[in-house]
Amino acid sequence: MSLKSASPPHKSNKRPPASLDILPAEPKKQKISKNTSEPKTLSKHDPLPAGCIWSQANWSCAYDVFFMIFFYIHHSSTELWTNSWRHHSPLASALHENFSSLSVNYAQGHQSTFDEHRDQLRNILSAHDPNIFPRYGPMAIDVADIFEHLNQTEQHVRTLTIQHICPPCNQTSPAVSIRLPTTVHPALLPCSGEYQLTLSTEFTIQEWMNASITANTESCRSATVCPMCSTSMQIATNFFQPSPFVHFEIPPEMRNSVLPSRILTISNTDVASHHYLLRGIIYHGQLHFTARLVTTNNITWTYDGQLNRGIPVQELNPSDDVRQLTTLQNRQAYIYVYQHVLQPALPV
Ligand SMILES: [Zn+2]
Repeated sequence: MSLKSASPPHKSNKRPPASLDILPAEPKKQKISKNTSEPKTLSKHDPLPAGCIWSQANWSCAYDVFFMIFFYIHHSSTELWTNSWRHHSPLASALHENFSSLSVNYAQGHQSTFDEHRDQLRNILSAHDPNIFPRYGPMAIDVADIFEHLNQTEQHVRTLTIQHICPPCNQTSPAVSIRLPTTVHPALLPCSGEYQLTLSTEFTIQEWMNASITANTESCRSATVCPMCSTSMQIATNFFQPSPFVHFEIPPEMRNSVLPSRILTISNTDVASHHYLLRGIIYHGQLHFTARLVTTNNITWTYDGQLNRGIPVQELNPSDDVRQLTTLQNRQAYIYVYQHVLQPALPV
């Protein structure tokens, strides 16, 4: 799983952040959800009172949930984040145009239909691979394939560089690149070292990521102490190039043991950490995908293209227990989507 990196080590991330977003300083008071649309009072921090409607003739739920989650993240983000999204991949760039025009239409009080924009996504994917993305008919596809296409041509997606550093004498070991696995499963950890994560224990995505980084670091460790001064080497982790988002797929046998983390932090030894915020969850069951959209201040909205004319519905009694996010109406969480943010939200 780990590859020796031929590129020079990244010492520290002193460059201005390229793909960061700023969170609202204070959580807003929760509002009562209304399904009536009042364009003049629309907040960028709530999903629009509209959405993709599931097509009975040409099953669309995989595209619906994907479109709704990323449209809403894009709609509620600053230009800093949307710019980094735009440069992520050709599909992200095409969606950027799509999302922007949909947002502008709503800001001007015109309500264009989400379905037309979703179908443009379908057209792109179907033209690219008609076997994986059949355009017409009652065909079930795997939403994970859309994510794979979204990350295509972006070779540094999820790639971390790991180095051992001696702070006193600034000695560094050669950097090793690892790619964070998309699928959350203990079998994907390198087999050196001791891990607490097993099929039968409950663990969070943050714990999974920590174990994944530690396991890869241990498996490529050359020396634990500095050859110059014998100080214990520290581990420095950094993104090769932070992605505007990361996603995690939960295989069926792991769905009772993996809990989402609201915030993911990838720490370094001495430079700023990278933070990712949970913004969307895709659920699967009974041949249908549904979703939760999560605002930056942790308010959740449910989305099902077969219900409520595709309009997201705010959950009025959000619980602090992340366990309730693992299911939605008898469907189980399949994919968690995290957005790169400038600073972690403060726990309320
Ligand atoms: Zn040293």
